[in-house]
Amino acid sequence: MNFKLDSVVVEEQCRTSVLARRILAGIPSSIPVRYVPDGRSAARPLPVSEPFGAGKRQMVVLHRRGPFLMGCPASSTQFACCGYLVLVLASNCPMDCSYCFLQEHLANNPALQLYANYPAAFDELDKLAQTSSGRCLRVGTGELADSLAFDSLTGISCELVDYFSRHKNLLLEFKTKTDEIDNLLKVDPRGRAIVSWSISPPAVFLASEHGTAPPSSRISAARRVSEAGYRVAFHLDPIIAYPGAEEDYLALLDCVFDALPTAHIAYFSMGGLRLTPGLRTVARRRFPGDRMLLGEEVLADDGRYRAFTPLRLRLFTRLHERIRKARRELPVYLCMESASVHRLVFGTPAPTPATLCTMLAGG
Ligand code: SF4
Repeated sequence: MNFKLDSVVVEEQCRTSVLARRILAGIPSSIPVRYVPDGRSAARPLPVSEPFGAGKRQMVVLHRRGPFLMGCPASSTQFACCGYLVLVLASNCPMDCSYCFLQEHLANNPALQLYANYPAAFDELDKLAQTSSGRCLRVGTGELADSLAFDSLTGISCELVDYFSRHKNLLLEFKTKTDEIDNLLKVDPRGRAIVSWSISPPAVFLASEHGTAPPSSRISAARRVSEAGYRVAFHLDPIIAYPGAEEDYLALLDCVFDALPTAHIAYFSMGGLRLTPGLRTVARRRFPGDRMLLGEEVLADDGRYRAFTPLRLRLFTRLHERIRKARRELPVYLCMESASVHRLVFGTPAPTPATLCTMLAGG
């Protein structure tokens, strides 16, 4: 395990669960472990000056009360969406990116929550597979947590890959900023799993992406899993419009195309930095020295601060041109941008979520 934990809390009813046993066997013996009747209380903010940061070092193993499957929290009729489904197996992330939306989204329960009853998620997936009417559905685990951050402890990735490899109408997507891929290399995805990396130029990594793997390590991890039979994808997200950004993002794409055959890449997504006023306030308070958070932004119609539209359009367009130069038909989509921005960047109307989902799934 690569991340520092202050303590582990286990909900009593999960004491004998497979997940709790794997975690307790894998953590250093110096980490204190305690048991509580209701893990939800242990996930609340701790009475310290920086409760969000402290929450990222307190792991809670508990029973998930709600469903595991949900629509993407970023989806909205305001945006040209990709029809992504989210499988919530964990909540919060041990890394600490200054722009991360979880700082606002999970402010009231910032602990690292891992759900011991995750085998029930496979029952939900069974029902989804039965009702998909032949459509291919894309299911990701990396929305409220990093998909692989604790995989060396939990080993859940192997079970997921094995399950999806047996379901032709479901496609699994891991999303990560780590290089924790050892478990993935042990299983054959049979074309049913994509591993995706959010990547940023070194300037953004150094300023803003605390505790993540360096961009070069993410790209070399992508190369290794692609050689093991996984399709890979890259999220250029958030794209930050700092001075020199255009050259840096283009150089980053060059590194990707130098490392990987384009035929192994399923798609790219692009998204501009977007911050609600609440997130901007908390991010600037937690990371006062981060120059990436100090750009000139405007409050957009959706209530989020974004770089000026002409600046975003130029970056999206230049990066899209570079991707098309590498492989003309390589799918690219925009995350949390309007249909009008989509049309300006790609010159075509935004596809429906179902069409986009099929395209990204390679169907
Ligand atoms: S790696 Fe992703 S989930 Fe984790 S802090 Fe960074 S942006 Fe948030």
